[in-house]
Amino acid sequence: MSDVQLNRVSKSYGKTEVVHGIDLDIGDGEFVVLVGPSGCGKSTTLRMIAGLEEITEGTISIGGTVVNRMEPRDRNIAMVFQNYAIYPHMSVYKNIAFGLRKSKLPAADKDRKIRDAAGILDLSDLLERRPSALSGGQRQRVAIGRAMVRDPSVFLFDEPVSNLDAQLRAQMRLEIKKLHQTMGTTIIFVTHDQIEAMTLADRIVIMKDGDIHQIGTPTEVYQAPANMFVARFIGSPSMNMLGARAVAADDGIGLRVDGLGAIAAPAGLHGKLSDGQALAVGIRPDDLIVSDAPADMDMISLSGAVEVIEPLGPDTLVYARVDGHDVIAKAPGRNPPVVGATVAMQMRQADIHVFDAASETALV
Ligand code: ADP
Repeated sequence: MSDVQLNRVSKSYGKTEVVHGIDLDIGDGEFVVLVGPSGCGKSTTLRMIAGLEEITEGTISIGGTVVNRMEPRDRNIAMVFQNYAIYPHMSVYKNIAFGLRKSKLPAADKDRKIRDAAGILDLSDLLERRPSALSGGQRQRVAIGRAMVRDPSVFLFDEPVSNLDAQLRAQMRLEIKKLHQTMGTTIIFVTHDQIEAMTLADRIVIMKDGDIHQIGTPTEVYQAPANMFVARFIGSPSMNMLGARAVAADDGIGLRVDGLGAIAAPAGLHGKLSDGQALAVGIRPDDLIVSDAPADMDMISLSGAVEVIEPLGPDTLVYARVDGHDVIAKAPGRNPPVVGATVAMQMRQADIHVFDAASETALV
């Protein structure tokens, strides 16, 4: 078993606490991505799991064993870094074999492991090459191969593709995902890139300022963000946020939203609002559609002046000004609106997110 558990784990450097008592349960074989802005404590957390940083408080267990005082080499983990340290004077074969330098396996078994890993990583034809004759992606695969031959129970990746160009990053992401599907090893992966997190993870752990803000599948954190930080961080472009207030009405409570005026409160909010409560109403650009079609009953319509358009191919992003507020909406790729035009936009009542403005937590 190679599940990983963090129980009230804190890290301080001197008097400054940078990770604040986090809890995290990672299942055997799960692919978990720690994501958050720079400085939020994701690398520190990963390095504590690896044993490269001491834990100030709390416990970390791997496969049911508390590893707080265990040396990194005894934890049966393998770590792949952004700056993959492969040796320029060694062939690909020798670089991968380096992962087995401390192994007591017979030479024939070592050779088989190296060739198996090279096969999975599509490096079989390159075993005699030096790193200088490899592409960036191939070099990264050599670093992964070196980690693989050790049969770790957990793989730790610290921004492993950040140094690569955009096309290669996408390719390496796919390869790492395939590798996980082939091997089924537990993976903990750190990135600041929310798209990388969404595309790779079984579950995403979203961190900010040393705290975990939400843990969930990519769909959960996208569709039901726990607070305004997660709502803005996940999804590109970011969720539109409009100031709002709860207002008492004859038939219960409604919302008065900047740029939208009075709208009915979404069903899930009944009983949760008090008159005058300050709110933020969020709508994803993907859910705010530029359209002249007559609106259905459950639609909210608004209109705004187009300030900028960004053609993306299949869709066009429309940056519009609605009653003094900026919103981003989506239009089709064909026949997009022109700058300066006034356009009608529609959103479904059900796609609205409502947050308490003071605590920033989601109410629906
Ligand atoms: P991330 O990986 O999310 O970018 P880190 O885990 O590297 O963030 O850092 C978290 C916080 O801890 C940051 O504020 C950083 O400045 C601080 N930090 C990291 N390493 C040290 C260190 N060796 N000494 C003091 N502060 C550190």
